[in-house]
Amino acid sequence: MTGQAYDSNNIFGKILRGEIPCHRIYEDADTLAFMDVMPQSPGHLLVIPKAPSRNILDADPAVLAKLIPVVQKLARAAKEAFEADGITVIQFNEPASGQTVYHLHFHVIPRYEGLALKPHSGQMEDNGVLAANAEKIIGVLGN
Ligand code: AMP
Repeated sequence: MTGQAYDSNNIFGKILRGEIPCHRIYEDADTLAFMDVMPQSPGHLLVIPKAPSRNILDADPAVLAKLIPVVQKLARAAKEAFEADGITVIQFNEPASGQTVYHLHFHVIPRYEGLALKPHSGQMEDNGVLAANAEKIIGVLGN
């Protein structure tokens, strides 16, 4: 294994245990998806495994095998819900790469021709906006 051990006292661990809220979009036995509170573009969401791992470096390949189809499902849904031209999927590993929360997660970010992303971990979005954006994606998933 590479890097440090998983510490369950991270913010996504707390979300998984229901200790802090999130704007949930999708959940199954192995996976949770919710809105990023500091979106780099409207509709920016995160997909996480329920199994503990710090990032991709220590993840069990079996966990990744279940996670990636959900990343794809959410990427397709976000593209449709936000009428995006494209989707950026980002995943950071360790501080040098830009990782700030140490529970494995994939960013799914709607993109538009000629429009740059807002900064990573930039400004907090309004709760009402996040809730409405979650509903947009949930609506597409339900179709
Ligand atoms: P990183 O670890 O660098 O991939 O970034 C962690 C991401 O989690 C950032 O984009 C933050 O905006 C986001 N974030 C931090 N706290 C929360 C939270 N409580 N709910 C949802 N997203 C969060």
